[in-house]
Amino acid sequence: MRCLPLLGVLSALVTLSWGNPECYVQGYGPLITSADETSLLLRDGTRFPYHTPTPKGTWDETINNADLSVQLSQTYDAGGIETPPPYLFDPGRLRYQPFFQALYGKDKKGIEANLVTIEWPTLKGMSTLRVNRVGGVDQKLAAIGREIAALPKKERIWAEGASTYEYRVIKDTDRLSMHSFGIAIDLAPTKTQYWKDEAPSETARIGYRNTMPLSIVRIFEKHGFIWGGRWYHYDTMHFEYRPELFAPSCVSHNR
Ligand SMILES: [Zn+2]
Repeated sequence: MRCLPLLGVLSALVTLSWGNPECYVQGYGPLITSADETSLLLRDGTRFPYHTPTPKGTWDETINNADLSVQLSQTYDAGGIETPPPYLFDPGRLRYQPFFQALYGKDKKGIEANLVTIEWPTLKGMSTLRVNRVGGVDQKLAAIGREIAALPKKERIWAEGASTYEYRVIKDTDRLSMHSFGIAIDLAPTKTQYWKDEAPSETARIGYRNTMPLSIVRIFEKHGFIWGGRWYHYDTMHFEYRPELFAPSCVSHNR
């Protein structure tokens, strides 16, 4: 596997590969017409470069300038045991925003035109959530809800307080949250853990914390949703639909 020119002073700590562009085709199916080391072509005719020339020398530059190759550069350990992720290991957190805008809606108005309402189980009955319908994300999240409803109550409590669509940027950045596209969900917001509550910067040394049960996590992963608890910059309430990271050519199994 080819590797990126490593990240300056962080090179000893973070290894990024370019990933396999075929994972986009495997993950998103008919939404992607073709993908190779040069470019990725969407069904609607949008074409993106696989690599962009913007600076990626430091971690902060990498996360702010991630392209489609960087987006696959850390492999997601689907179904893995819960272990503290290594320093700056954030599979799925490095994202190329124009790709998500092309898929799910280019702006607030365009995204909201693609939103539908699904039912979501709570301990007090059914609630509703707004989710993007592109690629069947709505149907996948509805299926996840049905499986969570069958769990014992002591695990179901971790799916309470769910929220999905909200058009906003990620805290302290100008990057759109995946909640803006209606492809992410937060659960148990008052009982879960967020790295920023402990760390002053992206490259700070932080301790891992999590209370989200793996029984919930594994249901999401089965349907193509990654979990923010597998990131060094942990966000344990957070799940988002990222099927490219579950493609056979991209998923890792480190159990
Ligand atoms: Zn979230």
